[in-house]
Amino acid sequence: MYNEVCAFIRTIYPDRDFIPLHEPRFIGREKEYVTDAIDSTFVSSVGAYVTRFEEMICDYTGAGHAVATVNGTAALHMALLVAGVKPGDEVICQPLSFVATANAIRYCGAEPLFLDVDRETMGLSPTAVEEFLADNSTQKDGRCYNRKTGRPIRACVPMHTFGHPCRIDALTEICQRFRLSLIEDAAESLGSLYQDRHTGTFGDLAIFSFNGNKTITCGGGGVIITDNEALATKAKHLTTTAKVPHPYLYEHDELGYNYRLPNLNAALACAQLENLEFFVDNKRKLAAHYADFFESQPLAFITEPAGARSNYWLNTLLTTNIAERDHFLQSTNAAGIMTRPAWNLLHTLKMYSTCQTGELTNARWLADRLVNIPSSVPQ
Ligand SMILES: *Cc1c(COP(=O)(O)O)cnc(C)c1O
Repeated sequence: MYNEVCAFIRTIYPDRDFIPLHEPRFIGREKEYVTDAIDSTFVSSVGAYVTRFEEMICDYTGAGHAVATVNGTAALHMALLVAGVKPGDEVICQPLSFVATANAIRYCGAEPLFLDVDRETMGLSPTAVEEFLADNSTQKDGRCYNRKTGRPIRACVPMHTFGHPCRIDALTEICQRFRLSLIEDAAESLGSLYQDRHTGTFGDLAIFSFNGNKTITCGGGGVIITDNEALATKAKHLTTTAKVPHPYLYEHDELGYNYRLPNLNAALACAQLENLEFFVDNKRKLAAHYADFFESQPLAFITEPAGARSNYWLNTLLTTNIAERDHFLQSTNAAGIMTRPAWNLLHTLKMYSTCQTGELTNARWLADRLVNIPSSVPQ
Protein backbone atom coordinates (compact mmCIF):
# COMPACT_ATOMS: atom_id res chain seq x y z
CA MET A 1 0.00 0.00 0.00
CA TYR A 2 0.92 3.66 -0.48
CA ASN A 3 3.11 2.66 -3.44
CA GLU A 4 1.83 5.59 -5.40
CA VAL A 5 2.64 8.00 -2.55
CA CYS A 6 6.15 6.56 -2.15
CA ALA A 7 6.76 6.73 -5.90
CA PHE A 8 5.65 10.35 -6.00
CA ILE A 9 7.94 11.33 -3.10
CA ARG A 10 10.81 9.61 -4.90
CA THR A 11 10.26 11.85 -7.94
CA ILE A 12 10.87 14.86 -5.66
CA TYR A 13 14.06 13.43 -4.16
CA PRO A 14 15.47 11.19 -6.91
CA ASP A 15 18.52 8.93 -6.60
CA ARG A 16 18.21 8.51 -2.83
CA ASP A 17 17.91 5.21 -0.98
CA PHE A 18 16.73 6.86 2.20
CA ILE A 19 14.71 10.06 2.14
CA PRO A 20 14.89 12.00 5.43
CA LEU A 21 12.11 14.15 6.87
CA HIS A 22 14.12 17.36 6.74
CA GLU A 23 17.76 17.94 5.96
CA PRO A 24 19.65 21.21 5.64
CA ARG A 25 20.92 22.76 2.42
CA PHE A 26 24.22 24.65 2.33
CA ILE A 27 24.21 26.45 -1.00
CA GLY A 28 25.59 29.88 -0.07
CA ARG A 29 28.56 31.38 1.72
CA GLU A 30 28.53 28.96 4.70
CA LYS A 31 32.10 27.70 4.25
CA GLU A 32 33.44 31.18 3.57
CA TYR A 33 31.92 32.65 6.74
CA VAL A 34 32.86 29.71 8.97
CA THR A 35 36.44 29.81 7.64
CA ASP A 36 36.51 33.53 8.26
CA ALA A 37 35.40 32.96 11.86
CA ILE A 38 38.15 30.38 12.34
CA ASP A 39 40.78 32.67 10.79
CA SER A 40 39.70 35.47 13.12
CA THR A 41 40.25 33.09 16.12
CA PHE A 42 36.90 34.35 17.46
CA VAL A 43 35.00 31.06 17.34
CA SER A 44 33.37 31.16 20.74
CA SER A 45 31.43 33.60 22.88
CA VAL A 46 32.74 36.82 21.29
CA GLY A 47 32.76 37.81 17.64
CA ALA A 48 31.30 39.94 14.89
CA TYR A 49 28.99 37.27 13.41
CA VAL A 50 26.82 37.18 16.54
CA THR A 51 26.01 40.88 16.20
CA ARG A 52 25.57 40.54 12.43
CA PHE A 53 23.18 37.61 12.94
CA GLU A 54 21.11 39.59 15.44
CA GLU A 55 20.93 42.55 13.02
CA MET A 56 19.90 40.29 10.14
CA ILE A 57 17.10 38.79 12.24
CA CYS A 58 15.81 42.28 13.09
CA ASP A 59 15.98 43.37 9.43
CA TYR A 60 14.23 40.23 8.23
CA THR A 61 11.41 40.03 10.80
CA GLY A 62 10.98 43.72 11.54
CA ALA A 63 11.58 43.10 15.26
CA GLY A 64 13.23 45.87 17.27
CA HIS A 65 15.75 43.68 19.07
CA ALA A 66 17.24 40.20 18.75
CA VAL A 67 19.33 38.19 21.22
CA ALA A 68 21.15 35.11 19.89
CA THR A 69 21.19 31.99 22.06
CA VAL A 70 22.79 28.56 22.01
CA ASN A 71 19.52 26.85 20.98
CA GLY A 72 15.80 27.45 20.76
CA THR A 73 15.06 25.83 24.09
CA ALA A 74 17.46 28.19 25.88
CA ALA A 75 15.84 31.10 24.03
CA LEU A 76 12.41 30.05 25.28
CA HIS A 77 13.66 29.58 28.85
CA MET A 78 15.18 33.09 28.78
CA ALA A 79 12.13 34.68 27.13
CA LEU A 80 9.92 33.27 29.90
CA LEU A 81 12.32 34.40 32.63
CA VAL A 82 12.56 37.99 31.40
CA ALA A 83 8.78 38.06 30.91
CA GLY A 84 8.61 37.52 34.68
CA VAL A 85 7.57 33.86 34.89
CA LYS A 86 8.34 32.72 38.44
CA PRO A 87 8.22 29.52 40.49
CA GLY A 88 4.61 28.66 41.28
CA ASP A 89 3.20 30.50 38.26
CA GLU A 90 1.05 28.86 35.62
CA VAL A 91 1.70 29.24 31.90
CA ILE A 92 -0.82 28.38 29.17
CA CYS A 93 0.52 26.29 26.28
CA GLN A 94 -0.63 23.64 23.81
CA PRO A 95 -0.22 19.88 24.28
CA LEU A 96 0.50 19.44 20.56
CA SER A 97 4.09 20.69 20.58
CA PHE A 98 7.69 19.64 20.90
CA VAL A 99 8.61 18.88 24.52
CA ALA A 100 10.86 21.98 24.72
CA THR A 101 7.79 24.23 25.06
CA ALA A 102 6.72 22.65 28.36
CA ASN A 103 10.29 22.03 29.53
CA ALA A 104 11.15 25.74 29.28
CA ILE A 105 8.13 26.54 31.47
CA ARG A 106 9.27 23.99 34.07
CA TYR A 107 12.85 25.34 34.01
CA CYS A 108 11.32 28.54 35.45
CA GLY A 109 9.64 26.53 38.20
CA ALA A 110 6.24 27.21 36.62
CA GLU A 111 3.50 24.77 35.66
CA PRO A 112 2.26 24.26 32.10
CA LEU A 113 -1.51 24.52 31.69
CA PHE A 114 -2.49 22.66 28.54
CA LEU A 115 -5.33 24.04 26.40
CA ASP A 116 -6.65 22.87 23.06
CA VAL A 117 -5.53 23.74 19.55
CA ASP A 118 -7.57 24.70 16.48
CA ARG A 119 -7.93 21.97 13.87
CA GLU A 120 -7.28 24.35 10.96
CA THR A 121 -4.01 25.83 12.28
CA MET A 122 -2.91 23.06 14.70
CA GLY A 123 -1.87 25.96 16.98
CA LEU A 124 -3.24 27.14 20.34
CA SER A 125 -6.95 27.95 20.03
CA PRO A 126 -7.97 31.50 21.05
CA THR A 127 -11.46 30.12 21.66
CA ALA A 128 -10.14 27.53 24.13
CA VAL A 129 -7.97 30.14 25.89
CA GLU A 130 -10.79 32.68 26.15
CA GLU A 131 -13.25 30.10 27.47
CA PHE A 132 -10.80 28.74 30.03
CA LEU A 133 -9.91 32.22 31.31
CA ALA A 134 -13.54 33.38 31.40
CA ASP A 135 -14.54 30.32 33.45
CA ASN A 136 -11.49 29.84 35.66
CA SER A 137 -9.63 33.11 36.17
CA THR A 138 -10.03 36.23 38.22
CA GLN A 139 -8.20 39.57 38.14
CA LYS A 140 -6.52 40.92 41.26
CA ASP A 141 -4.13 43.91 41.44
CA GLY A 142 -3.86 43.94 37.65
CA ARG A 143 -2.91 40.30 37.45
CA CYS A 144 -4.60 37.10 36.34
CA TYR A 145 -5.16 34.31 38.90
CA ASN A 146 -6.44 30.77 38.52
CA ARG A 147 -9.53 30.62 40.77
CA LYS A 148 -9.11 26.90 41.42
CA THR A 149 -5.41 26.85 42.35
CA GLY A 150 -4.99 30.44 43.51
CA ARG A 151 -1.81 30.70 41.48
CA PRO A 152 -0.99 33.49 39.01
CA ILE A 153 -1.49 32.65 35.33
CA ARG A 154 1.48 34.64 34.10
CA ALA A 155 1.93 33.94 30.43
CA CYS A 156 0.69 32.23 27.30
CA VAL A 157 2.95 30.38 24.86
CA PRO A 158 1.26 29.56 21.53
CA MET A 159 3.25 27.59 18.96
CA HIS A 160 3.09 27.95 15.17
CA THR A 161 2.85 24.25 14.42
CA PHE A 162 4.96 22.92 11.53
CA GLY A 163 5.32 26.54 10.36
CA HIS A 164 1.59 27.30 10.01
CA PRO A 165 0.70 30.51 11.86
CA CYS A 166 -1.89 30.14 14.62
CA ARG A 167 -4.63 32.76 15.14
CA ILE A 168 -2.10 35.03 16.80
CA ASP A 169 -4.09 38.28 16.45
CA ALA A 170 -6.97 36.90 18.52
CA LEU A 171 -4.52 35.51 21.10
CA THR A 172 -2.81 38.92 21.33
CA GLU A 173 -6.13 40.59 22.15
CA ILE A 174 -7.05 37.95 24.76
CA CYS A 175 -3.65 38.15 26.47
CA GLN A 176 -3.95 41.94 26.68
CA ARG A 177 -7.46 41.72 28.11
CA PHE A 178 -6.56 39.09 30.73
CA ARG A 179 -3.09 40.62 31.36
CA LEU A 180 -0.92 37.70 30.35
CA SER A 181 2.51 37.98 28.77
CA LEU A 182 2.48 36.55 25.26
CA ILE A 183 5.55 34.59 24.22
CA GLU A 184 5.42 33.03 20.76
CA ASP A 185 7.16 29.71 20.31
CA ALA A 186 7.97 30.46 16.68
CA ALA A 187 10.76 27.84 16.63
CA GLU A 188 9.29 26.26 13.49
CA SER A 189 7.92 29.31 11.69
CA LEU A 190 10.79 31.56 10.64
CA GLY A 191 9.64 33.10 7.36
CA SER A 192 5.91 32.59 8.03
CA LEU A 193 3.61 35.59 7.94
CA TYR A 194 0.24 36.24 9.54
CA GLN A 195 -1.64 39.08 7.85
CA ASP A 196 1.64 40.18 6.25
CA ARG A 197 3.49 40.35 9.58
CA HIS A 198 6.18 37.90 10.64
CA THR A 199 5.23 35.32 13.25
CA GLY A 200 7.15 36.25 16.37
CA THR A 201 6.39 39.97 16.11
CA PHE A 202 2.96 39.74 17.76
CA GLY A 203 4.01 38.66 21.24
CA ASP A 204 5.89 40.53 23.96
CA LEU A 205 8.72 38.16 23.06
CA ALA A 206 9.24 35.27 20.65
CA ILE A 207 11.86 32.71 19.80
CA PHE A 208 13.14 30.96 16.68
CA SER A 209 15.24 27.78 16.51
CA PHE A 210 18.14 27.02 14.14
CA ASN A 211 18.43 23.33 14.99
CA GLY A 212 19.59 20.99 12.23
CA ASN A 213 16.06 19.96 11.22
CA LYS A 214 14.55 23.46 10.99
CA THR A 215 13.99 25.54 7.84
CA ILE A 216 17.48 27.02 8.18
CA THR A 217 20.14 25.85 10.62
CA CYS A 218 23.42 26.85 12.19
CA GLY A 219 24.10 23.44 13.73
CA GLY A 220 22.42 24.51 16.94
CA GLY A 221 21.14 27.95 17.75
CA GLY A 222 18.24 30.13 18.74
CA VAL A 223 17.20 33.75 18.94
CA ILE A 224 14.85 35.82 21.08
CA ILE A 225 13.08 38.75 19.42
CA THR A 226 11.20 41.60 21.08
CA ASP A 227 10.32 45.25 20.54
CA ASN A 228 10.92 45.95 24.22
CA GLU A 229 14.44 47.29 24.70
CA ALA A 230 14.50 46.66 28.46
CA LEU A 231 13.54 42.99 27.98
CA ALA A 232 16.17 42.58 25.24
CA THR A 233 18.88 44.12 27.44
CA LYS A 234 17.88 41.86 30.31
CA ALA A 235 17.91 38.77 28.06
CA LYS A 236 21.35 39.69 26.70
CA HIS A 237 22.67 40.10 30.24
CA LEU A 238 21.22 36.81 31.54
CA THR A 239 22.37 34.79 28.51
CA THR A 240 25.95 36.05 28.93
CA THR A 241 26.45 34.93 32.57
CA ALA A 242 25.16 38.28 33.90
CA LYS A 243 28.67 39.68 33.60
CA VAL A 244 29.05 43.38 34.29
CA PRO A 245 31.23 45.01 31.61
CA HIS A 246 34.67 45.81 33.03
CA PRO A 247 38.17 45.95 31.48
CA TYR A 248 39.40 43.05 33.64
CA LEU A 249 37.22 42.23 36.66
CA TYR A 250 34.85 39.22 36.82
CA GLU A 251 31.78 40.79 38.28
CA HIS A 252 28.41 39.00 37.88
CA ASP A 253 25.48 40.82 39.43
CA GLU A 254 22.85 38.04 39.39
CA LEU A 255 22.34 34.38 38.50
CA GLY A 256 23.21 34.24 34.81
CA TYR A 257 23.38 31.55 32.15
CA ASN A 258 25.94 30.57 29.54
CA TYR A 259 23.35 30.59 26.76
CA ARG A 260 25.20 32.73 24.22
CA LEU A 261 25.49 31.56 20.60
CA PRO A 262 29.11 30.79 19.63
CA ASN A 263 30.49 32.99 16.83
CA LEU A 264 31.19 29.88 14.75
CA ASN A 265 27.51 28.97 14.70
CA ALA A 266 26.54 32.60 14.11
CA ALA A 267 28.74 32.61 10.98
CA LEU A 268 26.79 29.65 9.65
CA ALA A 269 23.51 31.33 10.60
CA CYS A 270 24.39 34.50 8.64
CA ALA A 271 25.08 32.50 5.49
CA GLN A 272 21.84 30.51 5.86
CA LEU A 273 19.80 33.67 6.45
CA GLU A 274 21.03 35.08 3.14
CA ASN A 275 19.14 32.25 1.43
CA LEU A 276 16.08 32.08 3.68
CA GLU A 277 13.64 33.62 1.19
CA PHE A 278 14.90 31.25 -1.51
CA PHE A 279 14.31 28.28 0.83
CA VAL A 280 10.83 29.46 1.85
CA ASP A 281 9.96 30.03 -1.79
CA ASN A 282 11.03 26.52 -2.70
CA LYS A 283 9.30 24.97 0.30
CA ARG A 284 6.09 26.69 -0.77
CA LYS A 285 6.48 25.35 -4.31
CA LEU A 286 7.03 21.87 -2.86
CA ALA A 287 3.86 22.22 -0.76
CA ALA A 288 1.87 23.27 -3.84
CA HIS A 289 3.24 20.23 -5.68
CA TYR A 290 2.19 17.95 -2.80
CA ALA A 291 -1.24 19.60 -2.55
CA ASP A 292 -1.77 18.97 -6.24
CA PHE A 293 -0.82 15.30 -5.97
CA PHE A 294 -2.88 14.55 -2.83
CA GLU A 295 -6.03 15.99 -4.51
CA SER A 296 -6.41 12.57 -6.11
CA GLN A 297 -5.45 10.56 -3.00
CA PRO A 298 -7.55 9.52 0.01
CA LEU A 299 -5.25 11.58 2.27
CA ALA A 300 -5.84 15.23 3.13
CA PHE A 301 -2.90 17.61 2.66
CA ILE A 302 -2.90 20.49 5.16
CA THR A 303 -2.58 23.90 3.51
CA GLU A 304 -1.80 27.26 5.09
CA PRO A 305 -4.53 28.88 7.22
CA ALA A 306 -6.55 31.81 5.83
CA GLY A 307 -4.67 35.11 6.06
CA ALA A 308 -1.31 33.42 6.48
CA ARG A 309 1.79 32.74 4.45
CA SER A 310 3.31 29.54 5.83
CA ASN A 311 6.93 28.50 5.46
CA TYR A 312 5.63 24.89 5.22
CA TRP A 313 8.46 23.69 7.46
CA LEU A 314 7.03 20.17 7.69
CA ASN A 315 4.35 19.13 5.23
CA THR A 316 1.46 17.37 6.92
CA LEU A 317 -1.20 14.87 5.89
CA LEU A 318 -4.33 13.78 7.71
CA THR A 319 -5.24 10.12 7.65
CA THR A 320 -8.76 9.05 8.63
CA ASN A 321 -7.94 7.30 11.91
CA ILE A 322 -5.10 5.99 14.05
CA ALA A 323 -5.07 2.56 12.38
CA GLU A 324 -4.64 4.14 8.96
CA ARG A 325 -2.02 6.51 10.39
CA ASP A 326 0.00 3.59 11.73
CA HIS A 327 -0.33 1.72 8.47
CA PHE A 328 0.93 4.77 6.57
CA LEU A 329 3.90 5.21 8.95
CA GLN A 330 4.75 1.54 8.71
CA SER A 331 4.58 1.33 4.90
CA THR A 332 6.49 4.53 4.15
CA ASN A 333 9.25 4.02 6.73
CA ALA A 334 9.73 0.43 5.55
CA ALA A 335 10.13 1.82 2.02
CA GLY A 336 12.97 4.13 3.14
CA ILE A 337 10.85 7.25 3.24
CA MET A 338 10.96 8.95 6.59
CA THR A 339 7.55 9.95 7.90
CA ARG A 340 6.57 10.73 11.47
CA PRO A 341 3.46 11.02 13.63
CA ALA A 342 2.75 14.04 15.85
CA TRP A 343 4.70 14.32 19.09
CA ASN A 344 3.14 12.43 22.00
CA LEU A 345 0.76 14.99 23.46
CA LEU A 346 2.71 16.70 26.23
CA HIS A 347 0.15 16.15 29.00
CA THR A 348 0.57 12.38 28.46
CA LEU A 349 4.31 12.49 29.22
CA LYS A 350 5.17 11.25 32.71
CA MET A 351 6.55 14.55 33.98
CA TYR A 352 3.49 16.51 32.82
CA SER A 353 0.79 13.93 33.55
CA THR A 354 -0.52 15.77 36.62
CA CYS A 355 -0.76 19.18 34.94
CA GLN A 356 -4.08 20.95 34.46
CA THR A 357 -5.67 20.59 31.06
CA GLY A 358 -8.75 21.91 29.31
CA GLU A 359 -10.83 19.87 26.88
CA LEU A 360 -8.25 18.62 24.38
CA THR A 361 -10.60 17.29 21.70
CA ASN A 362 -8.84 18.82 18.69
CA ALA A 363 -5.32 18.00 19.91
CA ARG A 364 -6.32 14.35 20.36
CA TRP A 365 -8.13 14.29 17.02
CA LEU A 366 -5.06 15.66 15.22
CA ALA A 367 -2.55 13.47 17.08
CA ASP A 368 -4.47 10.36 16.05
CA ARG A 369 -4.39 11.32 12.39
CA LEU A 370 -1.53 13.54 11.33
CA VAL A 371 1.71 12.49 9.70
CA ASN A 372 4.64 14.57 8.50
CA ILE A 373 6.19 13.73 5.14
CA PRO A 374 9.61 14.62 3.64
CA SER A 375 9.93 18.39 3.41
CA SER A 376 13.57 19.28 2.64
CA VAL A 377 14.12 21.87 -0.07
CA PRO A 378 14.44 19.74 -3.23
CA GLN A 379 17.91 19.84 -4.82
C1 LIG B 1 12.72 23.01 17.57
C2 LIG B 1 11.77 23.51 18.59
C3 LIG B 1 12.18 24.20 19.75
C4 LIG B 1 13.59 24.51 20.11
O1 LIG B 1 14.47 23.56 19.75
P1 LIG B 1 16.05 23.59 19.89
O2 LIG B 1 16.38 22.25 19.35
O3 LIG B 1 16.37 23.77 21.33
O4 LIG B 1 16.62 24.69 19.05
C5 LIG B 1 11.19 24.68 20.60
N1 LIG B 1 9.89 24.52 20.34
C6 LIG B 1 9.47 23.89 19.24
C7 LIG B 1 8.01 23.78 19.00
C8 LIG B 1 10.38 23.33 18.33
O5 LIG B 1 9.92 22.70 17.25
